[in-house]
Amino acid sequence: MITFLSGGTGTPKLLRGMQKVMDRHEISVVVNTAEDIWISGNHISPDLDTVMYLFAGVLNTDTWWGIRNDTFTTHDEITRIGLDEFIAIGDHDRAVHIARGNMLRDGMRLTNITKNLCDRFGVRENVLPMSDTEVTTRVKTDLGLIHYQEYWVRSKGRIPIQGVVRCSKESPESSEEVLQAVAASEVVVIGPSNPITSITPILECRSLKDALRNKFVIAVSPFIGNAPVSGPAAELMKASGFEATSAGTAGCYRDIVDLFIQDIRDPVEVKDAIRLDTLMTGEEKSIELAEKILHLADRN
Ligand code: GDP
Repeated sequence: MITFLSGGTGTPKLLRGMQKVMDRHEISVVVNTAEDIWISGNHISPDLDTVMYLFAGVLNTDTWWGIRNDTFTTHDEITRIGLDEFIAIGDHDRAVHIARGNMLRDGMRLTNITKNLCDRFGVRENVLPMSDTEVTTRVKTDLGLIHYQEYWVRSKGRIPIQGVVRCSKESPESSEEVLQAVAASEVVVIGPSNPITSITPILECRSLKDALRNKFVIAVSPFIGNAPVSGPAAELMKASGFEATSAGTAGCYRDIVDLFIQDIRDPVEVKDAIRLDTLMTGEEKSIELAEKILHLADRN
């Protein structure tokens, strides 16, 4: 069994390869939920949706969010009527958000809801939200503290940020299911996800870091030089006091990672890092990287 820590783009690209080279029942994924948001009365969990749709074979892999060939009839109508739905939600995708929202309102745990939805989608992998506690990543801007989705989706990351804050009513803890998955794993892989908005929220859940301490932990950098492969990771790293590079990423994970992987093109030197081609431009590249990581995991 291998447990992966995942956001909604970089690690799912790696999982796309892993599901081809591993027994799918041997894959557990602990997914960030700090980007979750209620929109138009429904509950969006962008990273959980992406991982579930990927394993179900319905993910739109052009965008790495939403369902392939989805329609946007409801979104178009809602917007025409005048509602502020600032995220374009597909009709089939929305059905999942409606179902999840209803189950949450009924008092179900997000872990059980996710299992329920994954079963309906025929997912064989073990997909787990990082916690059943609600957590939200907000960013400090001149407009005040705003939800990460407001910053990245509504403002397209164009406004300056001065800091990143995690908000929750009670301090989030890892679910029993997450701790069991880690305990049953020989190796834990932190994929090339955003260290600040995707991985740190998972690592902040109570008990997880302790559970990782006696595991062999591999991390893959999302940076090449001083830029991430995609997305706002550089701005978020700087706003959190880290260098926006692989070295900064290694610094973020320094107390838990045993093996750090950076790209062969990366001009930044990270001591003792392994160099691999981490640019997953298509399924073949994802498979190649997955095989190499499994090889490294086996050697441990
Ligand atoms: P989010 O939840 O959509 O922000 O997605 P993640 O946090 O899972 O992933 C975002 C990160 O993935 C970005 O910082 C990118 O640099 C990284 N990323 C995307 N594609 C690749 C890739 O092919 N290789 C590597 N090394 N990183 C990637």
